[in-house]
Amino acid sequence: MHKTNERCIFCKIINKSIPNAIVYEDDKFLVFLDRYPINYGHTLVIPKDHFDNILEMPINLVGEIHSLVPQIAKAVITTIGGNGFNVSQNNGKSANQIIPHVHVHIVPRFLAEKIKGQWPTRRIANIEDLKNLAERIKMNIGNIE
Ligand SMILES: [Zn+2]
Repeated sequence: MHKTNERCIFCKIINKSIPNAIVYEDDKFLVFLDRYPINYGHTLVIPKDHFDNILEMPINLVGEIHSLVPQIAKAVITTIGGNGFNVSQNNGKSANQIIPHVHVHIVPRFLAEKIKGQWPTRRIANIEDLKNLAERIKMNIGNIE
């Protein structure tokens, strides 16, 4: 059993009571595509146990989630043909944390946008499009270490 918070939208995604585009999951972590992506392929990596922020997490779990991030990011970038990516993890409202369940953002970046000086804005994605993209990313995930 995972430590859950019944009011938490990410815990509902973990429990599969809210549909989502899942890219990867194991005993401890769930990886899915953000419903409000900053950019194409915007991916979230979360622990299956509910922690409001990173300070509440056991330190070994903090290490494990961050070891997972580059392995997922590689598959995301390979799938969508991105040129780079940002990794961020916000703690607290003042730091722009919107959902109080620890999550690491992987935001793909494209040289064409960089040249234009654009920082993409959030939009609402179609769930079926996200599910199709998640399936393509899954095929590019190797053996997770
Ligand atoms: Zn939660």
